Amino acid sequence: MQTSYDVVIVGGALMGSSIAYFLSENPDFGGSILVVEPDPTYENAQSTRSGNSFREQFSNPLNIKISQFGLEFLDDFEHRVVVDGDVPDLNFRGTGYLFLATNQEGLARLDADHLVQLAEGADVRMLTPDETQRQFPYMSTDTLVGSRFGSEREGSIDGWALLLGFRQRARHNGVTYVADRVVGLDRDGDRIAAVRLASGSVVPCGYVVNAAGTRAKVIADMAGLPLPIEPRSRTTFVFDCRQPIEENVPLTVTPEGVHFRRERQHYVTGGVPLDDRPVDYDDLATRHNEFEEIVWPVLAKYVPQFERIAVMASWGGQYAYNVLDHNLVIGPAESLVNLMFANGFSGHGLQQSPAVGRGISELITYGEYRTLDLSPLGYERIVRNEPFVESAII
Ligand SMILES: Cc1cc2nc3c(=O)[nH]c(=O)nc-3n(C[C@H](O)[C@H](O)[C@H](O)COP(=O)(O)OP(=O)(O)OC[C@H]3O[C@@H](n4cnc5c(N)ncnc54)[C@H](O)[C@@H]3O)c2cc1C
Repeated sequence: MQTSYDVVIVGGALMGSSIAYFLSENPDFGGSILVVEPDPTYENAQSTRSGNSFREQFSNPLNIKISQFGLEFLDDFEHRVVVDGDVPDLNFRGTGYLFLATNQEGLARLDADHLVQLAEGADVRMLTPDETQRQFPYMSTDTLVGSRFGSEREGSIDGWALLLGFRQRARHNGVTYVADRVVGLDRDGDRIAAVRLASGSVVPCGYVVNAAGTRAKVIADMAGLPLPIEPRSRTTFVFDCRQPIEENVPLTVTPEGVHFRRERQHYVTGGVPLDDRPVDYDDLATRHNEFEEIVWPVLAKYVPQFERIAVMASWGGQYAYNVLDHNLVIGPAESLVNLMFANGFSGHGLQQSPAVGRGISELITYGEYRTLDLSPLGYERIVRNEPFVESAII
């Protein structure tokens, strides 16, 4: 480890590693990069507890563009992250997302977002209950008034492979990863002069990037800045269904806030806790009760075969939830010119990691966005309390 770095990234999971990757790939950058990550196994990170899915079906046009770049990045993944012939297997399964509506208000929302999505070039269409039934014959569509379905461009990957790809290539490019924790930031006027580590090291730096996931606010607090991001519990369940379903089971999102999709021979599901409040940063407990109380009744309502299922596995996780507008915060802190945020993904950050890495690398290298302008997602809106809303939250 050197004594000082041009860029110090706090957190080395998906977001930190994507930023390290894009910076170190950019020939115009050429600086030194340190990634500080206390847990190289990522056992408790969101990145390894994720639903691992990509979609075009957002309500906010900018989020559609962000995911479309993510999908484009996957297309070329092998060439971009290869090191000595080694490429982690993404194993993309293009199943699409299916959003259900059971009342006119819900249908109107799906339809309005559908127009936004079409305008952004998304491959998506509205289906009547009959069309939904024909395409997904295992579904009970009695309560449906309509649905919206994407294409095989949307789907799921092995998220661990994405993280490994970013990290292996960043390391290959000369990025240093250190197993340590950031415990303080030294301010010097309108800059962060140095980063303090739990080991006692003090690392002078040019830029600091906050990629600390659910602990983003802890880092912002060190700089004396507000950040409305809190950890929210989300439990994932994997189940087996005794009666096999032959047809595609896309990532289906119900109006009750339950989602399910097929994962090889099994199914993955989860819902929103009835009491959706901030939890302790270390609280990764599995909420077993949610399966019977929230998830199973909804599964059985839409798919009669799901009345007879068995839970095979489950795990707790957390969203880094932006309570202002359920959207990411990216770019410089207004009052601290060399502190960058990459936080608050509210459950859709995996697919946003390529665009976020590219965006931060452009800001640091050129002082501006050169490809996709992410400035509406900047920190200024937090200071002004002006939401830039994403309403299609799963
Ligand atoms: C159940 C669940 C389902 C999801 N499903 C999807 C999905 O289908 N599609 C999608 O796009 N997204 C999904 N997400 C969201 C996605 O997983 C996250 O947005 C993404 O992984 C965030 O990556 P990150 O690097 O910002 O955060 P994390 O993966 O949480 O990483 C943050 C890192 O910061 C480190 N850190 C914390 N404090 C410090 C410190 N003081 N010093 C140094 N390092 C520190 C931590 O150790 C951690 O490794 C889901 C998330 C969950 C929990």
